[in-house]
Amino acid sequence: MKHLNGDQKWAVLLCQLGEATPELTRDHFVDFCVNAGTGGLNDYWQSISHGNITLNGSAVYGWYQAPLSVADFMNLSRADKISRIAQLFSENESELDFSDYIGILVVTDGDYDKGSVQGGSLDLTFNGTTKPYGVVLAPADESHSFYAHEMGHAFGLGHSFDDSGIELDQGGWKSLPGEYLDKWDIMSAENVWSSVQPSSPDFGQSGPGLNAFNMRDQGWLDSARVVEIKGGETSVRLRSAAPYCPASRRRQLSPPWPARYRSGLPSW
Ligand SMILES: [Zn+2]
Repeated sequence: MKHLNGDQKWAVLLCQLGEATPELTRDHFVDFCVNAGTGGLNDYWQSISHGNITLNGSAVYGWYQAPLSVADFMNLSRADKISRIAQLFSENESELDFSDYIGILVVTDGDYDKGSVQGGSLDLTFNGTTKPYGVVLAPADESHSFYAHEMGHAFGLGHSFDDSGIELDQGGWKSLPGEYLDKWDIMSAENVWSSVQPSSPDFGQSGPGLNAFNMRDQGWLDSARVVEIKGGETSVRLRSAAPYCPASRRRQLSPPWPARYRSGLPSW
């Protein structure tokens, strides 16, 4: 089983393509993507991985005005958009050494295209060295939930499903049967229970966490708390995920996430 752990360092590249100065500052993205204790993505992944990973060591570069028209940018595939912007930063930021990072998050001033790529990662070459990078392309004003979902792809997670067989109409294409229908799992975003945190409203909707399947896939489930039912009768005593939820029947069955990422769930 894979066990993703340790500091997952991202290079966050703030790229301006339009003419208006972006509203959200570099400091905003340092709080959103790097700093802990802000309600940003570093807190999220530390909590949701049960302490297995952090985003410590990530860094934000830009804003940088790309010498590229919006039209030319839009004509590129998503992989080429990310690759082109990363190369431009590599040439213009002498401090930036991509070999320090596992992921590249390209933030744009407008909504030109957004998401990860098939499989979540791209082989990119900087200074003659090629290695796979988790990659995300995101507009600056997208939500915490959106960024977390796309980073999930970069960490190797696919979409989550329910067993309804329903295909969601995505405006021009249909999802696979059941895809995006686990509202309890970030890998079904943007069709999930999420909420705006009063302490960090600038980050937009956040949560939920990961379902047990995805946590296990990442090697983040505490095996001491996993019960396998192999037929016959098994008696299981449930306990609440204290200190986040008081004991009640409903809450004893809650997902093991901190309260802030559960607060969008129904009846919470
Ligand atoms: Zn996705």
